Amino acid sequence: MTANIDLHLHTLASDGRLTPTELIRLAAKLGLKTIAVTDHDSTEGLAEAYEAAKEFPELRIIPGIEMSADIPGDEVHVLGYFLDYQDEQFQATLSEFRTGRVGRAQIMVEKLKGLGKPVDWERVLHFAGDGSVGRPHIALAMVEAGYFKEPKEAFDEYLGNGGLAYYDRPKLNPIESVEMIQRVGGVPVLAHPTFMNDMEAGIANLKKVGLKAMEVYYAQYDDDTVRHLARLAKEYDLIPCGGSDYHGLGNTGEPLPGTLGPPQDTIRLLENAAAKSRPCNGK
Ligand code: AMP
Ligand code: ZN
Ligand code: FE
Ligand code: FE
Repeated sequence: MTANIDLHLHTLASDGRLTPTELIRLAAKLGLKTIAVTDHDSTEGLAEAYEAAKEFPELRIIPGIEMSADIPGDEVHVLGYFLDYQDEQFQATLSEFRTGRVGRAQIMVEKLKGLGKPVDWERVLHFAGDGSVGRPHIALAMVEAGYFKEPKEAFDEYLGNGGLAYYDRPKLNPIESVEMIQRVGGVPVLAHPTFMNDMEAGIANLKKVGLKAMEVYYAQYDDDTVRHLARLAKEYDLIPCGGSDYHGLGNTGEPLPGTLGPPQDTIRLLENAAAKSRPCNGK
């Protein structure tokens, strides 16, 4: 492990495989000091995470989310930190997205049947549990059905954006996601920027509507990519963030929490940005 900060972690509240309690225990065991729990379109794991963290007073949890804001043919995710996640309107919107994810996953399962790769819908629901249903749950059902050895292989031909079984779902676009996170006092952060088709244009456009940070220290990036992104973050005056994007899906080489993380100063910069993002109470 090289970092004691990890600002990108998933739980069973979306497509991670650990309960929030298990994730917190793992983070503490790995010696992490500051983490953000960032489930896709859900903050449902946070209450349990805070409860579990009472056992580990040295571990700080930043409330977070990862909004999936894909646009046709492009995978764009916006993270939000320090948001007032209990805001009712915000939760109503997230709940709508989660409902949309169920219908969309059902359509993808239908498509797979037509493609000669049937999976049982009940198994997809089983993998999703009470969490936000995502493509990794379909991928797990495909692995279980024997089509692939590990979940990530299911994305190449079938589940990836534009893949044979891909189907879109209701969501905000990246600009709306940045705006929504700010509306609830959060700090908007561009996740894994290189996944975008035109990264620099994306950064410039989102900066105009209030993007405050971008991931630089992302565990799947090599040193050159990290250096390049660190330069871009400086150029656009964005706080450099990062983490492992840990899911625990069982893919080969999946980085553990704390594999890579941002410098210590990032937390103070994010706190300052969060304080400015709350014009009403100045907190
Ligand atoms: P969804 O929330 O249903 O759109 O699924 C998004 C999640 O699927 C991402 O957070 C990743 O965990 C996973 N994912 C998306 N694209 C790929 C890919 N090409 N290879 C492996 N996993 C992927
Ligand atoms: Zn995910
Ligand atoms: Fe993501
Ligand atoms: Fe993620």
